[in-house]
Amino acid sequence: MYLFALLLVAQVQSTPMHCGTPVFDAMKTKVRGQGLGIGDLGRNPTPEPRPLSPVPRSKPPRIGEMRTMWLQNMSVMPPVQFQAELTCRGTGNHCYVMVDDSSWTAGIVDSADVARILERFDNSSPRDTSHGVWYHNTTVLGRPPDAIDNDSLIYLIYHNVGEFHGYSFDGFWQYFDEYYDTTSMRLWGYHSNEIECVYLDCYPNNPSEDYRIAIAAHEFGHMIQWNYDQAESLWVNEGCAELAMWLFGKPDAISGFNSVPDNDLTKWTGSWADYIKTYLWSLFLYEQYGGRVGTDLIHNIVASPLVSIEGVDSGFAATGLPQRFEDVLDQWILANVINDTSYLAGKYGYFGEHVPRFSNAGSYNTYPVSGNNSLDRWAGEYIRFQKGRDLQIGFNGADNANFHAFMVAKDTIGHRLVLDTIELDSLQAGSISVPGSDTGYQSVWLVPASHYPSGRMNYAYTAAATGIMETNPKPQIPNPKSAIGPTVMRAGARVRLPSGAELYSTDGRLVSQKSLEPGVYWLTAAGQRRKLVVAP
Ligand SMILES: [Zn+2]
Repeated sequence: MYLFALLLVAQVQSTPMHCGTPVFDAMKTKVRGQGLGIGDLGRNPTPEPRPLSPVPRSKPPRIGEMRTMWLQNMSVMPPVQFQAELTCRGTGNHCYVMVDDSSWTAGIVDSADVARILERFDNSSPRDTSHGVWYHNTTVLGRPPDAIDNDSLIYLIYHNVGEFHGYSFDGFWQYFDEYYDTTSMRLWGYHSNEIECVYLDCYPNNPSEDYRIAIAAHEFGHMIQWNYDQAESLWVNEGCAELAMWLFGKPDAISGFNSVPDNDLTKWTGSWADYIKTYLWSLFLYEQYGGRVGTDLIHNIVASPLVSIEGVDSGFAATGLPQRFEDVLDQWILANVINDTSYLAGKYGYFGEHVPRFSNAGSYNTYPVSGNNSLDRWAGEYIRFQKGRDLQIGFNGADNANFHAFMVAKDTIGHRLVLDTIELDSLQAGSISVPGSDTGYQSVWLVPASHYPSGRMNYAYTAAATGIMETNPKPQIPNPKSAIGPTVMRAGARVRLPSGAELYSTDGRLVSQKSLEPGVYWLTAAGQRRKLVVAP
């Protein structure tokens, strides 16, 4: 019954972090016969039973009041509950701080810690001197439940959560507490504390450090998600919880995912790379389409009764935005390599995070070259080409795949960027030429993104250029018929059109050919059409 939870933990034991919530998520779906809980279930299964008429079982705690509560021993799997005595050490506008008496007696948590935790939860954060965790989470994600105890304050429960085979749990939220004890015991075999609470580790890390408060924001984020959609996929749920850490101002450090971006966005294994993957995705949504531009997109995704990709799509629809998951996936994959908001109206970068460089899946500076790779679904990667003149890139995906392929040429010194789609034919092949790649584009990337929903697919690529090899190799492109790629030129360069040729803007206007603004144009001559990209 708990084998999956064991596997989940065992496979991530070498990672530094972090959240114990998925352990209970896996149990929930296993018990309910809904599969393993990490998959892409598509639609929300039948919601959990909820307490219909909340009846507070106890009054709010007063400072100094001791309570006997159920804690989890996370050093064994499945976790085993035990009863412990905790005392209320502080109350704020939005939270109670409950500390395990043995931790308090040992001096692991003291009154200065409690004062700082209250301040950061209620009033201030590293990002914002006048708002704390409560404000950021409830403004961006949504409201917490108040079903079980009829008390809007959240209990922050501090104890030594422990570790399992080297995997330390920094905190967790468990849905059992949202049910009456009898219901929780009957359905899952765990006791409920019958309050809105999160469990936070207080040892060996200082519980009042900002990073520890950010973890409180993360776990509180899981509680808010549950209030709207109890079956949300872990990749969405963890991504929003990671965003809560950024909103507070102390997000997880970025590593892992940027070294191996060939990693299905919708797959959750609990690895460190998965936290960072879903964090960057959620932050990108927030910055490009969410709170940074004044919409409630993130809340609308949290609040959607649909899960995973369908939940993201319905969140965009509810926000009145035309974009959908697959569009934004490509934009995000491109943003991770372009990573600079000073280009193209800021669509391809991050405003509030320094994202380190993404690794390349191939890197070349002599030609011709060819290579083969495979790519996970809902993932992208980067093949870099440097030097060479008149670079020609060919792409050929597996015939039944669904790749989207892009070319990015970047000149950071001259501040030029070319981004273009490589048109693929019905057999997933296409090519593109990058004229001018010798004149200052330090790097040109082939960027495939896989939209084939059923798994990993193969692709091949080629690149040819002149001016590097002593021989003058012919371009090796998989499908010569589709070899006509766009012509790329710099703004301000003089255009000489063949006689009879005409130039049109993308909205169909005939363009005077004297000086072209940066943008995309269509060149028509002798019944043929060719794309002209004018780089800034
Ligand atoms: Zn989490």
